Amino acid sequence: MWEIHKVIKMEKIKIIYLSGIGRSGSTLIDLLLSTNQKIFSVGEVYQYQKVKEDNLMCSCGKKFNNCDFWKQISKDLCKIINHVNLIDYLKMTNYLINPISKNINFKNNSSNYELFYKIKKNNSKINFILDSSKDIARLIELDQDKRLEIYNISIIRNCSAVANSFSSGKQGKKKNYYISTIKWFFVNYIMFKYLKKRNKRTLLIQYEDFCKHPEKEILRIEKYLKIKISKNYSEKIKNIEYHGLVPNRIAKIKNRKLFSGIKYDEKWKIELSQFKKSFGTIIEKILNYIIKTN
Ligand SMILES: [Zn+2]
Repeated sequence: MWEIHKVIKMEKIKIIYLSGIGRSGSTLIDLLLSTNQKIFSVGEVYQYQKVKEDNLMCSCGKKFNNCDFWKQISKDLCKIINHVNLIDYLKMTNYLINPISKNINFKNNSSNYELFYKIKKNNSKINFILDSSKDIARLIELDQDKRLEIYNISIIRNCSAVANSFSSGKQGKKKNYYISTIKWFFVNYIMFKYLKKRNKRTLLIQYEDFCKHPEKEILRIEKYLKIKISKNYSEKIKNIEYHGLVPNRIAKIKNRKLFSGIKYDEKWKIELSQFKKSFGTIIEKILNYIIKTN
């Protein structure tokens, strides 16, 4: 307890948080950032407890209980509970909708701090812990914890591309295309609503811009975090020590070894019918209109 207290007095733990809807390219940005030795990614760390209990795979290629990094971290660590409950969600909704509401008073701080604290303590060379959980409710929750300093990077990707990825079933369960576009709308709407209200430093990345002009976008990231990304990132991605939880396809070690650089994936344009693409475009236009007029 004394040690935790000491850290509060000394400095806040710096967290880079990747937010947005899934399938928006967060893994690529996560990997890119992880090539910097001062940044340590723990992937979708909000799933820590589940990964531990079910002994799921870490992105290093080993199961949780066999991964030396997580074995060390989870030793003597109590159960990690996300304290956000139904009442907290209602508070968040009120905070977002009600223009007078200035902050949210959560009853309990998330015990995630203890997890971050231990990661930082075990790895004194790192400046940032990278959490790519993406969930906006979690961003709100972490923002409320005064012991943490959050550097949020929000990623937005074309609606049709995201919905196509969900409906293709190449990763995870196959989801309905149209429902996925609606989900895209709501997640991004809540994200923009919160970012506006949050009024703190944030970096917004349009995934398509990132893939088309990676050098330019990397420069924006470097400026925002005051870090340097090696020009040789493609090679580095193949060899980084990476223990992200719930890795997706490209984060898995065998696929990382095949990484051949940042490319703009336009397959969705061929895979989708004209009607589906137009539907996605309409959803995007509605969101843009609402954001502009709100
Ligand atoms: Zn591992």
